[in-house]
Amino acid sequence: MAPTFRHRVGMGDPHAHYFTVELRVEGWSADILPLQMPVWTPGSYLVREYSRHLQDFTATSSSGIPLDWHKQAKQTWHVQTAGVSQVQIRYRIYANELTVRTSHLDASHGYFNGACLFLYVPEYIDQSQRVTILPPQSDWRVTTALPLVAESGNSFTYEARSFHELVDSPFEIGTHQIIPFTVLGKPHTLAVWGKSNLDYNRYLPDLENLIKTEANLFGGLPYENYVFIVHFADGYGGLEHHNSTTLLYSRFELQPDEKYYKFLGLTAHEFFHLWNVKRIRPSTLDRFDYAQENYTRNLWFCEGTTSYYDELFVFRAGITDVRTYLKQVSEAITRLQTTPGRRVQLLEESSFDTWIKLYRPSENTPNTQISYYLKGQLVSWLLDLHIRLESAGQRSLDDVMRLLWVEFASKGQSFPEEALTSLIEKAAGCPLEDFFALTLRSNAELPYERYLRAFGLQLTVEYENRPYLGIRTQEKEGRTTLSVVEEGSPAHKAGLSAGDELIALDGWKVAHSSLKERLSHLSAKTLVDITVFRREELMTLGVRLGEPVAERYHLSIRKDANEQALARLQSWLGKIEG
Ligand SMILES: [Zn+2]
Repeated sequence: MAPTFRHRVGMGDPHAHYFTVELRVEGWSADILPLQMPVWTPGSYLVREYSRHLQDFTATSSSGIPLDWHKQAKQTWHVQTAGVSQVQIRYRIYANELTVRTSHLDASHGYFNGACLFLYVPEYIDQSQRVTILPPQSDWRVTTALPLVAESGNSFTYEARSFHELVDSPFEIGTHQIIPFTVLGKPHTLAVWGKSNLDYNRYLPDLENLIKTEANLFGGLPYENYVFIVHFADGYGGLEHHNSTTLLYSRFELQPDEKYYKFLGLTAHEFFHLWNVKRIRPSTLDRFDYAQENYTRNLWFCEGTTSYYDELFVFRAGITDVRTYLKQVSEAITRLQTTPGRRVQLLEESSFDTWIKLYRPSENTPNTQISYYLKGQLVSWLLDLHIRLESAGQRSLDDVMRLLWVEFASKGQSFPEEALTSLIEKAAGCPLEDFFALTLRSNAELPYERYLRAFGLQLTVEYENRPYLGIRTQEKEGRTTLSVVEEGSPAHKAGLSAGDELIALDGWKVAHSSLKERLSHLSAKTLVDITVFRREELMTLGVRLGEPVAERYHLSIRKDANEQALARLQSWLGKIEG
């Protein structure tokens, strides 16, 4: 008989941010009970060492007799069972990190990802797990995608088919707003914690529309029920799960339209992940190892392609117009083309090294890295245009998603990590070796121009109205410091360094708020004096200003586009109004 695992989660003094957790193991037969705590939350690729928030660990028999235990490693405990088959583990978890991938408990609510709270026995990770939630007050309710299997008084018990499912099902507990709704015959729940300026009369129909638009790509919804947990607070983020998602968004950033569309984009992004990455997933992200990094070169597809589709779905749902959509793509181009690191890091490298780079930014990040979300989004866009062009409009990236769904995900299988690009070629029906060599495995500029004219589009560049210096600044407590010095820039060549406190330009005080304006009165090739404090030492450096650099890119429909190009554009974006 396999052992059983029951977790109980209490929150007696929520304002102190402590979850009280109990794990009861029954039917254990070995002398040692090995327990581990995950070091990361799937979907957020950084080792976060959750065991650092664990304290007051105890182990007893069912009759309360203490059992010996010792720590084997930072996240591993070994309990000496002394022959008993029922073991109770108790501990407390400090939970005061309000992000989508961590846990947060205060007097207003409790939220957690299982990875931050629960212990597992590696050998029995596929064993079903029960979780009983004990809210501190009778008016607190529980929302999760897991099925409720028992309820008595103020205790709610849920069942997960495995530890994986438990970790993949976040919980929201409190007096949050619960809005149930049905789409395509499937029950959905919107659970909202926090006040905001969101117009629900607008969001609910838009949300339903987005769900239908995404389902339409695959021909239906592959779940029994789905939960959106939304935190309106100060922050931004989203995390995908099999049958749910958590979104964190700034509470007063839901208006005007441009900001609202960003929230819809986040919603569309995390929802699309229920297919792309949760079900359509590379073999490297099939069965998670919670004890260490799980490497993949395919996050450009899992995240980048999802980023390409998020704004596109909002557009396809008829919520944004062509102008807005092209503006969103233009902003992505601007972000990539103004990041010097695009000349350094390859897209596949960005994915593989996410564990040590993307989630751990430093002052040198813009010089050495590109985000697989951002470049992956633009590569996915160009890939879509490439396939449409090569197949004379007969195929598109949609066919790639459908092939991966039909051949692997719909059967519960992952696709082989190494096979992604050849599977994309198969769905596209054209050779893509050169395309991928250029976009995934080289740091050459993306070939926008190769596709734009064919689709009746043009990309124009707006240059800065000032000579190039090459620093980014930030202001804190009245002091302006250099947050980034761009590699190869005039500032870099002159010896300026990130961390320097900016004091004066040509002998006159200058600050974060006045720097751009002051530079705009100067011309390129001028030699200027920049005065900074570097670790309390005052120094003045001569900087030769450079020619203005690109500030913004604009994607627009060409006035001289021919009929064939407009037909291609229409096959990509549908009927273009106006
Ligand atoms: Zn994502």
